[in-house]
Amino acid sequence: MILSIASGKGGTGKTTVAVNLALSLEDSQNIQFLDCDVEEPNAHFFLKPEINEANPVFLPIPEILEDRCNYCGRCAEVCAYNAIAVLKENVLVFPELCHGCGGCSLLCPEQAIKEKGQRIGTIEFGVVNNLKFIQGRLDIGQAMSPPLIREVKKHIHSDQAVIIDAPPGTSCPVIESVKGSDVSLLVTEPTPFGLNDLRLSVDTLREMKVPFGVIINRSDIGDRKVEDYCQEENIPVLMTIPTDRDIAVAYSRGKTIIEIKPEYKAKFRQLFDKILTLKK
Ligand code: SF4
Ligand code: SF4
Repeated sequence: MILSIASGKGGTGKTTVAVNLALSLEDSQNIQFLDCDVEEPNAHFFLKPEINEANPVFLPIPEILEDRCNYCGRCAEVCAYNAIAVLKENVLVFPELCHGCGGCSLLCPEQAIKEKGQRIGTIEFGVVNNLKFIQGRLDIGQAMSPPLIREVKKHIHSDQAVIIDAPPGTSCPVIESVKGSDVSLLVTEPTPFGLNDLRLSVDTLREMKVPFGVIINRSDIGDRKVEDYCQEENIPVLMTIPTDRDIAVAYSRGKTIIEIKPEYKAKFRQLFDKILTLKK
């Protein structure tokens, strides 16, 4: 069971939901928690895992062997990311655009491309009770998060409950994180911005054919438009979390909801039961 937790924008409480759900379940089953928000992983502040392993991740970047290259331009044609430009007597590689797919070296007719590993980040492994924790951490200055997210997801064991904390938004890193999920949760808030970003996320998940439900955080701050939208679109609202000053203060101190309000544990377990009903 792979569950991803996403949100159209940052600051809606996505990580709060992911962490509290994981901690509500981990005393009754094995949980794998993947923090795929690799530009800014912060679930570890709340889960406090003991990190026992950290491995660097490298992206294979092309390097041109000038003595073999005849400047035919094939590599630039096959690169979907414009990471190679072939000039009259020169080939330029733009590592910051390269996704490390290997297409150029595979298709170079002169075998004039070799690959060198460029470090893009690390994967860290840790543990808290029955919860196995894995997080990607993109190096400062690196822009290519999807390959790192792919590496993190290679460690998934889908025979247990896997909770993925996805990055915010609807761009490539989110799609990479959510891809392959059995169910996705969209965390939003009842404001015009929340509704706008929710619509974008819904379009993305429908396109990806991933079943999903919505959680409305700070459910009492805005209007009813998010609920009305979900009703019109037949989207299940699986949980609402009202504004609570105690929760906000706890969050700012790295504490979870269930630490300060244990009654929420049962609510997150009920949430998980509802999530299971969405799985195809
Ligand atoms: S495909 Fe190979 S031979 Fe052609 S320009 Fe690129 S590196 Fe050079
Ligand atoms: S490895 Fe892929 S993304 Fe990188 S330059 Fe070659 S074709 Fe482009």
